[in-house]
Amino acid sequence: MKLKMKGCFIPVILIIFLLSGCSAQSQNKQTEEYSSQQFMMDTFISIKAYGQNKEQLEKAVGAAFGEMKRIDLLTNRFPKQGNKEYEKSDICKVNSYGDKRPVKLDKDVFKLIDMSLYYSKISEGAFDITVAPVMDLWNFQSDNPRVPSDSEIKEKLKLVSYKFVKLNKEEGTVFLTKPGVKIDLGAIAKGYAAQKAADVLRKYGIKQALINAGGNIIVIGKKDNATPWKIGIEDPRDASSVAGILSLSDETAVTSGDYQRNFVKNGVLYHHILDPKTGKPANKTWSVTIITKDSGIADALSTTLFVLGPEKGLELTKKLKGIDAFYVGSNKHISISNGLKNKVTVEEGSKYIYDKK
Ligand code: AMP
Ligand code: MG
Repeated sequence: MKLKMKGCFIPVILIIFLLSGCSAQSQNKQTEEYSSQQFMMDTFISIKAYGQNKEQLEKAVGAAFGEMKRIDLLTNRFPKQGNKEYEKSDICKVNSYGDKRPVKLDKDVFKLIDMSLYYSKISEGAFDITVAPVMDLWNFQSDNPRVPSDSEIKEKLKLVSYKFVKLNKEEGTVFLTKPGVKIDLGAIAKGYAAQKAADVLRKYGIKQALINAGGNIIVIGKKDNATPWKIGIEDPRDASSVAGILSLSDETAVTSGDYQRNFVKNGVLYHHILDPKTGKPANKTWSVTIITKDSGIADALSTTLFVLGPEKGLELTKKLKGIDAFYVGSNKHISISNGLKNKVTVEEGSKYIYDKK
């Protein structure tokens, strides 16, 4: 489903939706709810926070949005030169002259790139922020995405390798070692920003909250004193139904799906998660949801595991601590990591084949 807004198409990516209302208020008459929504990072972000003091909740949520906005501005690669937002974006600077001289980075942007390089290494390049020049060929974020020719892709793939990105820790800089290389933090920035927002809420003493950043979910605490939050994982082929239901407390669930930003041409679905080896949409997965404690990590891994596909992706979760995954594969199988079996329910009669552990 797509929503027309401000002249451009923005995918509605409420990937995961809440199955049961937030019942915090009903547990304790003094518990207040404060909720607010903003459009940011190409999606609707909603924050609901619960506590005793409404003014404090409002302050906390405002500060959390402020932090997300800061990360958004620093990482947005789309503003044009001359624009005020361009000046605030580290990624615009890196993509404009980072192949000529080192660019000094904000600490969070440094950390984002550092994390990205780590996930590239452990996935042997399935995750790769230098995919930007090939992303631009496809133009998914525009009104007019297109299927590039094989020769165009081949040419731009010469610029795709995380090995061209060199960080200098002492100087806090990045340098792109090949002319024309560009980076795109779209696979990690939203989750990272949502995590920073959750950290802000916690600093304000919030013990119960829910952040929904266009389907990147973070829950703080439990839904009430004893019950975890119930979160539905959207069926990648039917937005009105769920493929599974998660029980979460103090965790995050981040989904990458082929239904989120895509177009159909001659009956073929083309979507925005590219296999950096081919420059084309990765095709082993319909959706994968990562469940863990840190939303930046979950976001990086959702994209990584999407590209790797269920077999290699689930193998990788075994090597990583505290990472769980829920896959809907393009073979119509649901498969999950070991740690998830007590946290997820797939309804009897699901249209998918559930490879239960
Ligand atoms: P996500 O929805 O978190 O999986 O992120 C998808 C976004 O990440 C795309 O819109 C691109 O901006 C970027 N991207 C696409 N393919 C890759 C990849 N293989 N590695 C890293 N980033 C990617
Ligand atoms: Mg991601």
